[in-house]
Amino acid sequence: MSFTTQKNFEPAPRRWALRGDLLDFTAAPAWGEVASAAVRFDRDHWLLIEDGRIVGRQAHEPDASWVRKDHAGQLVLPGFIDTHVHCPQLEVIGSYGTELLDWLERYTFPSECAFADPARSRAGAEVFLDALLASGTTAAVVFATVHKVSAEALFQGAMARGMRLITGKVLMDRHAPDGLRDDVTRAERDCVDLIQRFHCQGRLSYAVTVRFAPTSTPEQLAMAGALCRADASLYMQTHVAENRAEVEWVARLFPEARSYLDVYERVGLVHERAVLAHGIWLDAQDKVLIAERGAQVAHCPSSNLFLGSGLFDWSAAPFNVSLASDVGGGTSLSLPRNMGDAYKVQALRGQRLTAWTALHAATRGAAEALQLGHEIGGLSAGQAADLCVWDWAQGPVAAARDAAARELHERVFAWMTLADERNLAACYVAGRQRV
Ligand SMILES: [Zn+2]
Repeated sequence: MSFTTQKNFEPAPRRWALRGDLLDFTAAPAWGEVASAAVRFDRDHWLLIEDGRIVGRQAHEPDASWVRKDHAGQLVLPGFIDTHVHCPQLEVIGSYGTELLDWLERYTFPSECAFADPARSRAGAEVFLDALLASGTTAAVVFATVHKVSAEALFQGAMARGMRLITGKVLMDRHAPDGLRDDVTRAERDCVDLIQRFHCQGRLSYAVTVRFAPTSTPEQLAMAGALCRADASLYMQTHVAENRAEVEWVARLFPEARSYLDVYERVGLVHERAVLAHGIWLDAQDKVLIAERGAQVAHCPSSNLFLGSGLFDWSAAPFNVSLASDVGGGTSLSLPRNMGDAYKVQALRGQRLTAWTALHAATRGAAEALQLGHEIGGLSAGQAADLCVWDWAQGPVAAARDAAARELHERVFAWMTLADERNLAACYVAGRQRV
C-alpha cells in the first residue's frame, strides 16, 4: 500500500484568491432539516487569503494584486477534522474476524509494539500525516502509542506540515503485553516533558491520552485527572462504551463506579476538552453528564460497523457529536466515506442523517466542540486557510448522479455518499498547498 508522499509545492503567495463553489456553516443545522439556514453556499465565488488566513469572500474576481487559483466548478470545503484516529494502526486496517477486545490483542497491540523504535515512529508519523492530508483531513485528534517517541514524531511531523494536531502518548500500565506498558511515575514524567515541549507550540496541543479504562490502574487514572486539573488548556482523549463485552469488563474492574463513564468522571477526566470515542452503550445519566461537562463524543461509524460494536444514537444525543474515522478499527481515513457509513448507521436505527449534520460534524461542529472555532472548521475571515477542493464527481456513475441532482442537499448528499479521497483536487494547510 502506498500513500501520496509530500510534494514540494511552490511557497504560498502572501496574497492569493481561490475560485470555486464555497460551502460551510454559520450554525449547527437542525436534525433532519434538508433546507437549512445554517448552510452557507456561495456558488462560483472567490475566497481571499492573506498570510495563511482567510480575509474575505466575494462574487467578483479580485484585482491583479491577488494571485488567482481558478477551481470554478469544484467544491471548496473547510479541511476536515478527524476527532479520533490511531496513527500506529494503518497497518492493521481491514483485519479479519474479530470484535474490539480480541482485535486489540491479535492485531493492534503487536503493531503498536514496533513504535518503540524511534525510526519506526518517525516513518509511521510521516506516512500517517500525509495520508490524512491526501484524504482532505487537515486537523486531527490522534492516538500515538505508549512510547513517548511516537507522540514526539507526530508533533514534529505536524509542525513541519503546519497542521493543527492534538495528540499525546498513550497511558496504559496494565492488561497490555510487554513493551506496551508504562508505569505511573514514568508516564507522568513523559507527559510533563511532552506538554512543556509541544503543548500550545504553533498549532499543536497536548491531549492526556488514556487508552481506555481497562488498561490503566486506578492510580494512573488519578494521575491523568491531576494533569488535566493542573492545566485547563489540555485536551483529554479516550474510548468509552464502544462494545458490550468491554462495558461488562469495566464493570468488573471498577465495581465502585456507577458506569463506565463514571470511572473517568470520578478522577476529573470528563471536561470541556474531553474527546470520548464511540459512546454507543452510554445510559441516559451518562449522556446528560457529557452534555453538562461540555465534552464531546467522537462518532466512528465505519469502525462501529466493521467491528460490529453497535449503532450510535446520534439523533437523541444531548452533547456535541463530531465525526471520526477510528482507523484501524475504521476502514477508511476518508471522512466522506465515514459520512456515508454514518448515514447507514442511522438508517438502521430508523433515522435519517442529512448531509448537513454529517458535514457539520466533520468541520464547524468538531471545531466548536474542540474550542477551536476561531481557527478551523469554516471559511470565514480570520480563520486559518485550511481548505480542500473537491471534484463534485469522479467517474461516470457519480457524474450522472451529480448531473441529475435538482437541489443543493440532493447534490451534496450524493457527493457525500459517493466521494472518497480520489475526489480531492487540492488541499491547503494555512494557505499552503500540501496535496
Ligand atoms: Zn479508537
